[in-house]
Amino acid sequence: MASEIAAKLLLSLPPDAANLAFVNSLVQRSELRDLHEKVASGQRISEADALRLFESKDLNAVGALADLVCRRKNGNRASYILNRYINYSNYCILSCQFCAFARKKRDADGFQYSVEEIAQMGREALRLGLTELHIVGGLHPSLPFSFYTDMLRALKAVDGRLQLKCFTAIEILHLAWLAKKSVEQVLVELKAAGLDSLTGGGAEIFQPAVRSAIAKGKESAEEYLGVHRIWHRLGGRSTCTMLFGHIESLADRVDHLRRLRLLQDQTRGFVGFVPLPYQPGHNQLEVQTPPTGFDMLRTLAVSRVYLDNFDHVTAYWVGLGLKLAQVALSYGADDLHGTIIEEKIFHMAGATSPQQQTEAELVKGIREAGRVPVQRDTFYQPVKVWDAAPADEGPPAGGASRVLENNLATA
Ligand code: SF4
Repeated sequence: MASEIAAKLLLSLPPDAANLAFVNSLVQRSELRDLHEKVASGQRISEADALRLFESKDLNAVGALADLVCRRKNGNRASYILNRYINYSNYCILSCQFCAFARKKRDADGFQYSVEEIAQMGREALRLGLTELHIVGGLHPSLPFSFYTDMLRALKAVDGRLQLKCFTAIEILHLAWLAKKSVEQVLVELKAAGLDSLTGGGAEIFQPAVRSAIAKGKESAEEYLGVHRIWHRLGGRSTCTMLFGHIESLADRVDHLRRLRLLQDQTRGFVGFVPLPYQPGHNQLEVQTPPTGFDMLRTLAVSRVYLDNFDHVTAYWVGLGLKLAQVALSYGADDLHGTIIEEKIFHMAGATSPQQQTEAELVKGIREAGRVPVQRDTFYQPVKVWDAAPADEGPPAGGASRVLENNLATA
């Protein structure tokens, strides 16, 4: 009887108040009550608090806390982007143990595109109505620095409105080493050639011993963060990532988030955080318990609560699958990433998700989760806000969504 009365009371409240009341009722019954009071009053949680959230088995209570933070920052909106991935080459001088993407020059399935081939991909992207090209590759042994600036210029010549989100911090360090230039000079020249944003890849896990065990020889956390720091100082924006669910401990994840929050306090240059679940298979890293659905949701949720100076947290559907990414919209995520078109890195590692999503699927997934879909650009700025149609209706005909849907069939 008491629960019926409580349910009636909840239904009589306006939506925001009802949500808050629901969170209150959920969390206050849990072991996390003190953390709810902290988060609800807008206080920052500590690393010890984050570890407690990670260790809690009360996933719904952790998710409710994350949802509280997410709604405070983004209201009822959830975003996606119309983008495509381009891997200019998979040749790489490193052999990270977790990687199934990299190849050596002797390997038959290595590849490398020319600037003209990449420009053609840019033209196709434009025809599909895409706004962003997300471009990364391995640490190529010999391509000259001019290849990278020529590629950016060629793509901007296709259409200056195409936003170019390119290169991990690790690639930038590699280019600086190859070209015998400072990191700052490399970034200045890439920016002048058309680079709009750095990608977040290459962060893996910052904890040195674990980093060395999964990515031997890869540059350190300090070097990764140093590149982003310089890029932010130059006025650039970027995203950042964390590869989780392999051999790291929960404390290592907290340490990783701590370093990201610290840099964000100093620069405010990160526009979003993208946790990446480890993909087992086709690599040299044996992992007993790869990330489960529970682990993916709690990692997104704890990240959302702890990274209080980040506006956006992405549920990366390639790693989670679209179904779980959709659920993650109630566990702190406010973004599903994008259409992608041709994802290679996770799929060469055995991901079973499709290689692309249509805009219609992303919009439908967001609507079903009770959020208002927003098409965003590289910097999470809204391009288009969809109306709040019923979840089973699908996106309206015409406009960019229909154009994209039709064209994807022949892409
Ligand atoms: S993760 Fe990146 S740096 Fe490491 S082997 Fe793969 S492509 Fe090379």
